[in-house]
Amino acid sequence: MRRISDTMDEKFLELPVDGRVDTCPQCGYTTGFHVSFLKQPSFVKSIVICPECHTRFDANWILASESRGWQ
Ligand SMILES: [Zn+2]
Repeated sequence: MRRISDTMDEKFLELPVDGRVDTCPQCGYTTGFHVSFLKQPSFVKSIVICPECHTRFDANWILASESRGWQ
């Protein structure tokens, strides 16, 4: 699985989004993910975390920008 981003000391794997995404490609857990948020200089990115194996994925979902009031 391709690692797509490194932020400080964290590493994230790519989470392909194609239709419904509720299965972890690393361990096969099928009941969805936890979501956390990572502040970047000009936007906020969501990080998807498998509750079973704790792998962190970057689905490349941008949630908000500075101009929209996220601080
Ligand atoms: Zn997993």
